[in-house]
Amino acid sequence: MAASTLEDRFGRLSVRDENREQQKPKVKAISTTRSQDPGQPTLLKIALQNREQKTSATARREVELPASPTQKALPNAEKSNQESQAQAEGKTATLIERPIKAFHLGMFEIGKPLGKGKFGRVYLAREREYGFVCALKVLYKSELQQGRVEKQVQREIEIQSNLRHPNILKLYGYFHDSKRIFLILEFAGRGELYKHLRKDTRFPEWKAAQYIAQMASALRYLHRKHVIHRDIKPENILVGIHNEIKISDFGWSVHAPNCRRKTYCGTLDYLPPEMIAPRNADNSYDEKVDLWSLGVLTYEFLVGEAPFEDTPVMTTRRIARGDMKVPSFVSAEATDLIKKLLVIDPDKRLSLEQVQKHPWIIKHCQKAEIVAKSKEA
Ligand code: ATP
Ligand code: MG
Repeated sequence: MAASTLEDRFGRLSVRDENREQQKPKVKAISTTRSQDPGQPTLLKIALQNREQKTSATARREVELPASPTQKALPNAEKSNQESQAQAEGKTATLIERPIKAFHLGMFEIGKPLGKGKFGRVYLAREREYGFVCALKVLYKSELQQGRVEKQVQREIEIQSNLRHPNILKLYGYFHDSKRIFLILEFAGRGELYKHLRKDTRFPEWKAAQYIAQMASALRYLHRKHVIHRDIKPENILVGIHNEIKISDFGWSVHAPNCRRKTYCGTLDYLPPEMIAPRNADNSYDEKVDLWSLGVLTYEFLVGEAPFEDTPVMTTRRIARGDMKVPSFVSAEATDLIKKLLVIDPDKRLSLEQVQKHPWIIKHCQKAEIVAKSKEA
């Protein structure tokens, strides 16, 4: 399977969660206790549409994942009450399932392995009937249980399947068998951003600025939906075939405007001061943690290493003090942006809107637009 030809044939899928769309923004962390089974039916409606057959009426097919007719009919307030009641009783709502068509492994032709993570093995795959290409992530339930990450994976699924943005990796759907969970993901044709960065050592300013602009756009979308990513770093960013950024890995993200500190086991380099050394009594922090990480990312793109890279003890200390130096080869405009994001007081960090309007971003992104337009003409 040649990746480029498969990408050309990539079909379009849209994911809507009508119930959630109407809900008010959630104030508390998304429930991960609803079910121990990440494949539990949710109220997702997934419309599969093949790009090649866009105009054909028959090309569009609505695939309804198992849903509960009773839950669907309920007003939202009542629904959430019922949910909490079911939670309190420790029950998993057993729903009457009448899927038009559920996903299953036989629907996919499996291609080359794309990579291996801590828990997942990811393969290139093609849906047989419509020919759309995707990445199929296979997670073994036993491994998730052993690693005690079932809730994390469930949260990842719940959050990611409700997001639609060009710079966020789409999760089209999922299914499971007795041993495995399969996630149907958008295929990112150019793989990991981390590998590109290591290969190039550092990115030229125009490239870094365009990536940061895409990150800012994706983060604005996430924050509007009250999702905090909390784990922004090059390892969690994939690159699409048109060289566009795709944020992935929502394992650490939370659906909440305010959250408490949790045990963290990733790299320290991207952690903001408020997560490392909380100053407030309740250890709380908000979406501004992603702004700090965006500053670290900008630095790493331009310098080739993270600003606080050191021994773990020193990294922690330096982050808490905001102790870093931008090398002189970085332009004054980029340095200005980094310094305005790496601010210890979360409330004083540049907002995402301000990032999008920052002179460094404007300068490099407008130029790219002009080049693109002149190519079109
Ligand atoms: P972790 O287990 O810590 O999350 P990871 O993010 O590397 O590690 P996976 O998300 O399982 O693990 O992905 C493994 C690798 O497969 C990635 O590093 C990437 O190279 C590749 N990969 C994953 N998803 C996709 C995708 N949608 N498109 C293209 N390649 C992918
Ligand atoms: Mg991952």
